[in-house]
Amino acid sequence: MAAPRREGAGAARVELDLDDGTRLHYVDRRMFGRFRVVPGARFDRLPEIATLGPDPLTDGIDAAALRARLARLKTPIKVAILDQSLLPGVGNIQASESLFRAAIDPRRPARTLSAHEVKRLAGAISKSIQFTLETFAAAGADGGDADIGYVEERTAPNPFLVYGRAGARCPRCKSGTIVRIVQAGRATFFCPSCQK
Ligand SMILES: [Zn+2]
Repeated sequence: MAAPRREGAGAARVELDLDDGTRLHYVDRRMFGRFRVVPGARFDRLPEIATLGPDPLTDGIDAAALRARLARLKTPIKVAILDQSLLPGVGNIQASESLFRAAIDPRRPARTLSAHEVKRLAGAISKSIQFTLETFAAAGADGGDADIGYVEERTAPNPFLVYGRAGARCPRCKSGTIVRIVQAGRATFFCPSCQK
């Protein structure tokens, strides 16, 4: 493994030479990431890993267990699903996208969601993550030397339904307008007309 070096304005970069001869470039322009070298046998016991909930993509989402957790929370559902001990891997973009797909208002207290709505949300989260991975794969990010960019960067295309689309017409109900609000310091995008 090459030593991390700084590149450009504030970008961290790591290059990993994998066993199959390919090289993985990690460029962290926003400096959210962290690299640590640990023995494989100890990986699952790292505090950061041990506290994570089941992975929505590989483990599936247990809607009943999720509802039991949400039922205790007064926080808005958008803020609740960003908790990585609840649903690891659901980031800010996926949270907005999933709630839009599930037609649920992101401002609703988490505990007001019915069992049916949590089930719908669980399905929407899986679909949204799957869509994002497929979109990046189609763009060549799973092979070759393509880069995954942040959608906030002006040059990056925006493949999302509502994220980053404030002022646009709602792609579902066609009558509402996508709005941007801030919840717990993070941007949320949704359609007030069809997200109930
Ligand atoms: Zn709408």
